[in-house]
Amino acid sequence: MNLTLLGAPGAGKGTQANVLAIHYKIPHISTGDIFRRHLREETPLGQKAQEYMVQGKLVPDDITEAMVDDRIALSDAALGFVLDGFPRNLNQGKALDGMLAARGLFLDGVIHIAAPYDLLVERLVGRRICPACGATYHIRFDPPQAAGICNVCGTNLVQRPDDRLETVETRLSVYREETAPLIAFYQVRGILLEIDGTRSVEDVSQSIIQQLGARHG
Ligand code: ADP
Ligand code: ADP
Ligand code: ZN
Repeated sequence: MNLTLLGAPGAGKGTQANVLAIHYKIPHISTGDIFRRHLREETPLGQKAQEYMVQGKLVPDDITEAMVDDRIALSDAALGFVLDGFPRNLNQGKALDGMLAARGLFLDGVIHIAAPYDLLVERLVGRRICPACGATYHIRFDPPQAAGICNVCGTNLVQRPDDRLETVETRLSVYREETAPLIAFYQVRGILLEIDGTRSVEDVSQSIIQQLGARHG
């Protein structure tokens, strides 16, 4: 099963990608997570990506596409994967088609998770992440057991610098202008699943798995 999640920052892509990865036993490939790891490890790629990420802009396509191509070439992706945060514009959408075609693959489904602007902002500014293990929390919607501490590994949680209100607004407008056109791009192919992202994590997961099951048996 080769899947990708489409949706604005804060829609719940990462949260649902985790659930789908476990359910279908396929790797969760998040371009944002891969970039953040490079940033942390101060690799040349991380240094290049940082200037775009702090501003809430897209990292250039050539860098991002090469990174995804390398990642889907790894053996754990041979039986499928769930992409999260890629593609993010039409160029990347076309590049993904090329990468998959070169391996005799195609996308089985594109899951569009929709949520209104105010809810996206609330989810983003309240998001906290574990810098050590990558676990995601929300100060109101999914608080950790002990305030500010990761349930999984005990590390102090942090706010992503790009989750501060100033950058959130830029990211949401980048989504509207550059990423949203992908919805029509996939809709005409009949592989788009429309999901209401305003409901609970469990309800959203259930409706994704149900719609995928209805399509693929
Ligand atoms: P994205 O990857 O699309 O940016 P995330 O999955 O990181 O989004 O979710 C953004 C924030 O909203 C996180 O803090 C997460 O805990 C929270 N969240 C995700 N899905 C839901 C949901 N269905 N209901 C309430 N909060 C959610
Ligand atoms: P969110 O889902 O909350 O927007 P991500 O973790 O997916 O956040 O992305 C964080 C940042 O990483 C983006 O704002 C962008 O700078 C960079 N990034 C992630 N994926 C891509 C991509 N496919 N193309 C270009 N830049 C990307
Ligand atoms: Zn942790």
